Amino acid sequence: MKISHIEHLGIAVKSIDEALLYYENVLGLKCYNIETVEDQKVKTAFLKVGETKIELLEPTCPESTIAKFIEKRGMGVHHVAFAVEDGVANALTEAEAQGVQLIDKAPRKGAENLNIAFLHPKTTCGVLTELCEQ
Ligand code: ZN
Repeated sequence: MKISHIEHLGIAVKSIDEALLYYENVLGLKCYNIETVEDQKVKTAFLKVGETKIELLEPTCPESTIAKFIEKRGMGVHHVAFAVEDGVANALTEAEAQGVQLIDKAPRKGAENLNIAFLHPKTTCGVLTELCEQ
């Protein structure tokens, strides 16, 4: 697959409002979009750092995978998202052929209307990996 850059880092937080106090007031970054992704049970907030973004993820209910992540491991980096240039569907086919376990068998719509798919951390050296394209 052809990766152009890190599209965003997904960071699990208990509260976006509280996390923004740090990201905006201390780091001086600016949140430009807050969006709820219903099927993922998360509220997301985006901040730009050059070409890369920070995606803050707040669970909207206790059944959210983000809620479970925070319960188990605490707040922190949840996933790394790479921008692929030759399509998420192609990247998934290639990754699967190389023995990577797919969480999403096909691309789906994520926040910011990106086509996204996740690779299982068991087969990506421990990092939940998201592939995305505009
Ligand atoms: Zn993400």
